[in-house]
Amino acid sequence: MITASVNPRHLGPRTWQQELAEAITSPEELAAALGLSPGLLAGAHAAGDRFPLRVPRGFVARMRHGDPNDPLLRQVLPVAEELRDSADYVDDPVGEHGALRAPGLLQKYRGRALLITTPTCAVHCRYCFRREFPYAEQGGDAPRWSEALAEIAADDSLEEVILSGGDPLSLSNARLGSLTRALAAIPHVRRIRVHTRQPVVLPSRVDAGLLQWLRAGVLPVIVVLHVNHPNELDEQLVDACGRLRATGTILLNQSVLLAGVNDDAEVLARLSRRLFEAGVLPYYLHALDPVRGAAHFAVDDERARALAGQLAARLPGYLVPRLVREVPGAPAKVALGGRF
Ligand SMILES: *Cc1c(COP(=O)(O)O)cnc(C)c1O
Ligand code: SF4
Repeated sequence: MITASVNPRHLGPRTWQQELAEAITSPEELAAALGLSPGLLAGAHAAGDRFPLRVPRGFVARMRHGDPNDPLLRQVLPVAEELRDSADYVDDPVGEHGALRAPGLLQKYRGRALLITTPTCAVHCRYCFRREFPYAEQGGDAPRWSEALAEIAADDSLEEVILSGGDPLSLSNARLGSLTRALAAIPHVRRIRVHTRQPVVLPSRVDAGLLQWLRAGVLPVIVVLHVNHPNELDEQLVDACGRLRATGTILLNQSVLLAGVNDDAEVLARLSRRLFEAGVLPYYLHALDPVRGAAHFAVDDERARALAGQLAARLPGYLVPRLVREVPGAPAKVALGGRF
């Protein structure tokens, strides 16, 4: 049996591209790596047909062996519950189609626009609000960035561009560099923000070229990571965060509140503390976007507010993420937490 953490010595250290290519995509292999019952496989295949399983081996290595309820496993294992359709759970839960200004360019909020740079992610998160996004129609490849870049250049109210996807760090360092140079040539663009989960599931992505790109400082870069559970923050990830921070990059984190993963004040408090140790400050705790197939992750608003209150009662303010929801048409993310 092959275990998830196999890293054959004779092959030397893996590049992130190799690790990406070796990600687990077969439910059988994932179940075998974790010593799980084959009983899970029927659901995994049925739900995986709609949105396939994909998880890097290094992330699997952080899961508990033999535990079908592991909070990291729950984020990536397709399950039959995804196929139970529910009227409130839809393909475009946050109204992205209405916010498109150019292929792949979304604007909802004043001063900042979001660029879908690639359809690719190193991991497939079962609750992803873009799991049904029509990437093929919306750019995600270089020739089509030109229209989005022209749109940004024509609007001097846009001072921040958010690189999103998919995962923008699926792009090569060379492509990140050329995109940044194109953005830096637009005088009113002052900051770039990168929303990424890739360093979390694939810390080797934080390679010399990426650090060099950040150090080049063509424009200030803010990196918003996506960590949902403290078990995701192993030594390798903490080390990768340290290297990112050493470039002067500001590191923030956003999480999604997920039933059976992190809907527990103690878990959320541990996550915030661990993020701080890694040099990352909590930014947002998002209520689940009601995307088709994710209803089993929902936490109702009342419980979400109670959790936010318990978290605020445990931690200094700067370690308490803002509990927010994306509401189509609203001028900003909407605070859910009342006082918190
Ligand atoms: C979430 C989001 C942003 C970022 O919002 P902030 O509150 O600035 O973090 C920007 N654009 C779009 C389309 C978004 O969905
Ligand atoms: S990494 Fe982000 S964009 Fe990719 S599947 Fe996960 S939540 Fe969605």
